[in-house]
Amino acid sequence: MTLNDAYSYALNCLEKNAVDEADFKSLCLVCTLAGINNSEFRLHKEDYFEDYILTEPLLRLINGEPLQYVIGKWDFYNSTFFVGDGVLIPRPETEELVELALTVAKEYDSPIIYDLCAGTGCIGVSVAKELANSTVYCVEKSKEALKYLDKNAYGVSNVSVVEGDITKSLNLPAADIIISNPPYIKSGDIPSLQSEVGFEPSMALDGGEDGLAFYRAINSLAMDNLKSDGTLLLEIGNEQGKSVPEVLTNFAVCEVKKDMYGNDRMIKAKFR
Ligand code: GLN
Repeated sequence: MTLNDAYSYALNCLEKNAVDEADFKSLCLVCTLAGINNSEFRLHKEDYFEDYILTEPLLRLINGEPLQYVIGKWDFYNSTFFVGDGVLIPRPETEELVELALTVAKEYDSPIIYDLCAGTGCIGVSVAKELANSTVYCVEKSKEALKYLDKNAYGVSNVSVVEGDITKSLNLPAADIIISNPPYIKSGDIPSLQSEVGFEPSMALDGGEDGLAFYRAINSLAMDNLKSDGTLLLEIGNEQGKSVPEVLTNFAVCEVKKDMYGNDRMIKAKFR
């Protein structure tokens, strides 16, 4: 079978099973299995392809598993991150938090930065790669997520991976910038999420009864771990533009920022 045959076969299978974005998923799958980028497909269309390697990933896609888990990687900001069962898939909105962090970081010399609830490390690793003079601590509690975080941080010399629980203060040098995209969905809303999200770990989504548990924890942790002229940068849910500033009781200045879709999405907070 050629790559082109494999693509047509995958497309046909996914369409028959009413899988959405069948076209894009087939292309990503075949290219990943062939070890090429999507943009190289045309060039390699007639190359030989071992057809049996398609079966298992196609079954997973038909079963509703997210494409990102099946191909095991996803692009975010300027890098590709390893992803899979047990870790949250990086979202495009979160790239805007990276951009905000890079702008804020210009205000500090050799900043010490934390990425709390780091997951894949997409935020912390992206920031560290852009800012060679920064020191970034990616803090994560889940053992499953840490496996991906370790791989994603490998070789990035200014990133340290820290296994830790952000509901307690952290034994790390005080930070100039704390960044976090913590779990922020209300526990009661989790069962009704889009079906693909059902494959992602509830630990990475569940923000407690009111969705604010981790913002409260970060509000306390900042007292011990953020320098007095430090900046807190958070991703929030689109309905949390009022509630998150309310729980950030230790911060006198709280700015809500919108994402590219015009939804409330980020908070920039300072003690004074
Ligand atoms: N910080 C990671 C991300 O933005 C993981 C977030 C999480 O697990 N809630 O993708």
